[in-house]
Amino acid sequence: MSCPSFVPHDHAACRRDALSQAEALCAAEGARLTPIRRKVLEVLLKQPKSLGAYDILNQFAESGEPKQPPAIYRALDFLVERGLVHRLEKLNAYVACSCQGDSHVPAFLICRACDRVSEAPDITPRRLDAAAQTQGFRIERTVVEAVGLCEACAE
Ligand SMILES: [Zn+2]
Ligand SMILES: [Zn+2]
Ligand SMILES: [Zn+2]
Repeated sequence: MSCPSFVPHDHAACRRDALSQAEALCAAEGARLTPIRRKVLEVLLKQPKSLGAYDILNQFAESGEPKQPPAIYRALDFLVERGLVHRLEKLNAYVACSCQGDSHVPAFLICRACDRVSEAPDITPRRLDAAAQTQGFRIERTVVEAVGLCEACAE
């Protein structure tokens, strides 16, 4: 499953799928999707945009919940560790994974005008792997971030 952020679609269905997959994944790993972890994921799933930790905090405050920065950072760490959320290095922001369950190299299309983000599934940077191999370099983490304009913003 993936969420095609730049074309109209039933995002409520993406949200439901992502939450139930997150629950299944946590259950399978014996981890708990605590209320705060779930809430952080829900906030990120609300719109197909990336959010900084500070934006997430503000959304908590808006819904009347106490601001708890350390708890939210811990929840983000948990979600990132399990691949339920990805961190966008360039933007220093977070985005909910839209292809949960598979181990994958996250690749993103990021609109610089509206900040919407779409995760592109099935990107395998094999050439990067090959380049690393010839130099004995061990890749620990790869994130592909493509910045540009979505169709709506380009008009
Ligand atoms: Zn969606
Ligand atoms: Zn992903
Ligand atoms: Zn855009």
